[in-house]
Parts: sequence; C-alpha cells; structure tokens
Amino acid sequence: MKSINLLGSTGSIGVQTLDVARTHGYKIEALTAHSSVEVLEKQIREFKPRYAALVDEAAAADLKARVADLPVKVLSGLEGVSFCAAEGEGNITLNSVVGMAGLKPTVDAINAGKTIALANKETLVAGGKLVTDAAKKNSVDILPVDSEHSAIFQCLLGKPRNSALKRIILTASGGPFFGKTKEELKTVTLADALKHPSWSMGQKITIDSATMFNKGLELIEAVWLFDVDPDMIDIVVHRESIVHSLIEYDDNSVIAQLGHPDMRLPIQFAITYPDRFESPEKQLDLWEVGNLSFYKPDYETFPCMDICRNAIKKGGLYPAAVNCANEEANLLFRQGKISFCDIPVLIERAAEFTSNNDNYSLQDVYDTDALMREKVRQLAGF
Ligand code: NDP
Ligand code: MG
Repeated sequence: MKSINLLGSTGSIGVQTLDVARTHGYKIEALTAHSSVEVLEKQIREFKPRYAALVDEAAAADLKARVADLPVKVLSGLEGVSFCAAEGEGNITLNSVVGMAGLKPTVDAINAGKTIALANKETLVAGGKLVTDAAKKNSVDILPVDSEHSAIFQCLLGKPRNSALKRIILTASGGPFFGKTKEELKTVTLADALKHPSWSMGQKITIDSATMFNKGLELIEAVWLFDVDPDMIDIVVHRESIVHSLIEYDDNSVIAQLGHPDMRLPIQFAITYPDRFESPEKQLDLWEVGNLSFYKPDYETFPCMDICRNAIKKGGLYPAAVNCANEEANLLFRQGKISFCDIPVLIERAAEFTSNNDNYSLQDVYDTDALMREKVRQLAGF
C-alpha cells in the first residue's frame, strides 16, 4: 500500500494531492506547510498523520496547542519539514513546497531511501546535480509531478529498443500575456499577471508563467530528469493546454500525452506508478476540444526562457543563481515594488555576480541564494 509524506500540503498541489489520496484511500503519514495553521489543522483532523510540521515557529506552537487532543507529533522549522520528508513513515515523499526551500528536504528524503514525487521544480533547478547524484547513489526514483514532465515520462515508457531520443518538445500555455508586445508589457499589473488562461495555481508559479520563467525552469528540470542536452529541448506555445508535451525519436516519430488541464492526473500517476488507476479527471472529448493550436514562442518579448537555457548551458551554480534571483524578483513584483519588465533585467544583472563552481555543495547553493536575493534587492534600489 502506498503511503505519503506530503510537503507543502496547504498549497495548490498539496490540496489536490490530498484529493487524490482521499479518492484512493492512500495513507498520509506526514503533512507540512509554512504557516497556514488553520488549513493544516483541518487536514490533520481528516488524514490523521503521525507527524506534522510548520516552518514558522509561532505557527507551529499554535498548531501544537490546537491538535493536543490527537496523537500527531508537531515539529517546527525547516528541520521539522526535513524530518517529515525523511523520517515520516510514508514510502513516497511528495514535495509540493514552493521555491528552493524544498531542496534540503528532497535531498534528506532521497538519502533516507524515499521515492520522490516532485512538483517542487526549483529543487532540481537549484540543486540538479546534488539531487540526481543522491538519487543514483541511493537507487531512488524521482517521479515528475509537473504536467509537462509527467507527459514526457509517460511518452518515454513506451521507448522501443535501440531507439534514440532526438528531441523533447515542451508545451507552454503562453500565460496571460501571449501575443503582447514589449511596449504593452510595460504597463501590465499584478492582477493582469495573476489571470492565468488555463491553470489555477499558487501565486509564485502563476507569475512565473506570465514571465515564461516557468518554462525556463521546466527546461532545466527536463535536462536533469531525462539526462538530455539543453539544445535537445524545444518549446512550443499551445494555448489549449491539452497536449502536455511531446518527444521525438530518431526516426522523426513524435509521441504526445494529452488530457484536460487537471493536475490531479500527473499527481496521481506519480503516486500510482508503475500502475494506473481510474481518475476523477474528465474524459477527453476531441470533438468538444475541436482545434489544437501551436505557435513559436516570442523569445525577445519573453527573455526568461533564454536566461534559463543559457544558465544550464553555463552549468555549475548558474541555474541556482537565476532561480534564486527570480524568486526574489517575483516576490518584489508581487509586493508591488518593481514592474513586470524589471523581472528579467534584475535576474540577468544579479546572475553576473555568480562565481561558478561545478562541484558545488548544498551550502554553495544556499550562499548563492543569499547573494542573489541581496543583489536583486540592491539593483532594484531596496
Ligand atoms: P502554493 O504557493 O500554492 O503552495 C506552496 C506550499 O508550500 C504551501 O503549503 C506553503 O505553506 C508551503 N511553503 C511555502 N513556503 C515554504 C517554505 N519556505 N518552506 C516550506 N514550505 C513552504 O504553490 P503551488 O502548489 O502552486 O506550487 C508548489 C510547487 O509545485 C512549486 O514548485 C510549483 O512550481 C510546482 N508546480 C505547481 C503547479 C500548480 O498547478 N500549482 C503545477 C506544476 C508545478 P503555507 O500555505 O503555510 O504558506
Ligand atoms: Mg508545468
């Protein structure tokens, strides 16, 4: 029986994961969040995990008092999250934390031999080599939750003998600003950027989708998950979000995975793999869908895709640098402190301060994070 340590349970992916667990009766062994006490309390009462953790110390103390009538052990801090990831009794750790705060818990869970179901793409972008090396060493599977990577993973399951993968084609919805000019982007607001056309997600990834930095993160995520050269990955804008991604073999045959935009399907497959079970997702009716459209991305108006491609080509700490600079710039934009078009400029300028190091440690990634956040704030005038 599959059982799950769920990190980031109060967020968009976390809540949908619990929906999947409720449908199929999976046991939840651990639940974690940052500071959402009330939601976590409700989840604890329903799923009765053995452990729970909140990063925020005061919130954790509040939670402990609220659930004193239950046998759950409440922990605090990032160490509490790491404990749940590694020592929680689930055989799968599903990481849906937002941002590179998810990196250490992922590494700890891998070292404890847990199968990883990974939504937290920043983990692979900031610490790709550390995470994949640890997974190899511990013979641990990293199963993608991100819909594009789940699609690629599913397409590759039918890989014929003696065949070579020639290309990965990542689909992108294009976000709310598809078709806009550079000039028009100068006046967009936070409310405009939060209106995603096809997916309902947490705020950070919704802004990343508007800047297309999300697609850049996904390109780097694909390099690590599927061990491919960055130039083997193409991006195609597909507004309907029905084709979740495609692969191409050496004979030019292209294989795709299709479905409605509903994250419960990739979440479920990461948990049930190598099995498939019925899912609550609506059946795909191609007559109803009608047309599928595909466009070339506008790399000039949305430079974040190339920023990420260049960072993974440079290697070492560059992907971590652009990821961390983006985390800070994304936050400043959400706080109303910078404009939408400042985001890529700040990321590129901050990343120039990265000192490269191919044999980086976890501490080097954290140092890069601190440096990038400081540089972005300085460059933005704060
Ligand atoms: P949300 O913002 O909705 O949820 C984030 C979760 O992480 C919450 O439980 C939050 O707790 C917790 N959290 C926030 N900060 C920290 C921290 N510093 N340390 C530990 N936990 C923290 O995000 P999403 O669910 O949208 O996204 C989660 C991840 O999944 C991201 O990496 C995203 O890119 C990826 N993803 C999301 C998709 C989606 O459809 N939403 C699709 C594909 C990938 P609290 O509530 O207390 O703040
Ligand atoms: Mg995605």
